[in-house]
Amino acid sequence: MTALSEADIQGIITRVQERLSGTGSARPAATLAAQSEMATATELGEGIYPTVDEAVAAAKRAQDVYSRMGLQTRHTIIDAIRSAMVAEAENLAMLAHTETGLGRYEDKIIKNRLVATKAPGPEDLEPDAVTGDAGMAVIEWAPVGLVGAITPTTNPTSTIINNSISILSAGNAVVFNVHPNAKKCSAENVRLLNRAIAAAGGPPDLVTAIATPTLESAKALMVHADVRVLLVTGGPGVVEEALRATKRAVTAGPGNPPAVVDETADIPRAARAIVAGASFDNNVICTDEKEAIVVNSVADQLLREMADAGAYVLKEHELRRLERVIFKELGPPSKPGVINGAFIGKNASVILNEIGVQVGDDVRLVVADVPNEHNLVWTEQMMPVFPVTRVPNVDVGIELAVRAEHGFRHTAGIHSTNVETITRMARAMNCSIFVANGSFFAGLGQGGEGYSSFSIASPSGDGMTRPRTFSRPRRVSVVGALRIV
Ligand code: NAD
Repeated sequence: MTALSEADIQGIITRVQERLSGTGSARPAATLAAQSEMATATELGEGIYPTVDEAVAAAKRAQDVYSRMGLQTRHTIIDAIRSAMVAEAENLAMLAHTETGLGRYEDKIIKNRLVATKAPGPEDLEPDAVTGDAGMAVIEWAPVGLVGAITPTTNPTSTIINNSISILSAGNAVVFNVHPNAKKCSAENVRLLNRAIAAAGGPPDLVTAIATPTLESAKALMVHADVRVLLVTGGPGVVEEALRATKRAVTAGPGNPPAVVDETADIPRAARAIVAGASFDNNVICTDEKEAIVVNSVADQLLREMADAGAYVLKEHELRRLERVIFKELGPPSKPGVINGAFIGKNASVILNEIGVQVGDDVRLVVADVPNEHNLVWTEQMMPVFPVTRVPNVDVGIELAVRAEHGFRHTAGIHSTNVETITRMARAMNCSIFVANGSFFAGLGQGGEGYSSFSIASPSGDGMTRPRTFSRPRRVSVVGALRIV
């Protein structure tokens, strides 16, 4: 699919703002945020229900109406969602940042805008037609029905926007059980989606959520008889739980993305890309670079260039002190440690302050030069503390990258100008996303080609989710006729 151009996006915004005029979608973010502060997760209505049964029943009724509304309405509704979510990107970023305390507000705006504009819509469901001597066959994409979606605290609103566009584009409805630590911003997001859908002529409750989500309500949603497909985005625990359900589960699990740098790379460019990528939203995104593996002959230069690009490179004694702050338990070598949750998603300046180093918020990343077996290399740290580790040559680096990624097959990448090395590593990693010579967020469509998704379903093999992921291919064959040439 081709990404929407700026002109397309502007066109959508203008068309739908005309339709929404009077509903206030163009209000300034500060006003919206102030109003949203008043709304709490437990405030019911506009898609928010007290129980799983009620949220499921409402979405089921909505899907029944929606399935009879035709394709043009579906396009109109998705256009309205895109426009409203672009207009609300700052408001939702502020709410998510304030409630979860994770990441960077300005990066969350980028994430919301990215999914609102580049998550594929109903155009992803172009039918296939085959004609031949035996007649004609058409393959169309049918809705699956009701999707139960579980969302993370790290990207609460961008995941809800992205999942809603994918699921509704395929003609379905969705019930969310969100992370308890993000229930307010998520509830506000669901209300705003319902408002946009209603203004575009869609039925109420195409998107619903449970007001007070818990692990128990997540499990109840997973086993609910009316939920046809699950979409689970989170860590290993929730993925394991979903795979136990006796229904199809699209599972988007954890990652530990390695960035290899070889001696042929453009080192200043690689350093800038890694600092930008590993610090994006303070490293809470599953696709963010989590460790760099660099060929020794260019390692010192890479570290110097990373410092020039805005990173703080730790001295040996500072690293020893920081380990005691950010890890609850270091654990054995070459294994993940247990991260201290208090520092997940915090700014580099906040983390450095704990060891008495004062820097401004313009320092986006803390870098540690560590041996291969250091726990930071093997841990999904989800904070802007980033290990760089040295290898004698690129083949040893690729082999280490495969092991450090733990077989998640999520995201990996390389900085190299040797196409054979790029190809060799991409094959060895076998990941849903592989990025060469860019920040890993390029693999999400931010500064790279292709569509966007914030549910990258590697465990279930679905890859970057899209409307087709939530569709059933159905075929009609006409025997001996309708080939008209
Ligand atoms: P988390 O696993 O703590 O929570 C995710 C969601 O699952 C929440 O809604 C939570 O309430 C629910 N949950 C957790 N354990 C559960 C269980 N046993 N039963 C039922 N529900 C359960 O994750 P998080 O901290 O919110 O997010 C970070 C993790 O998610 C990281 O590991 C990250 O890599 C991963 N993630 C993956 C993707 C992807 O696309 N693959 C996207 C975002 C985040």
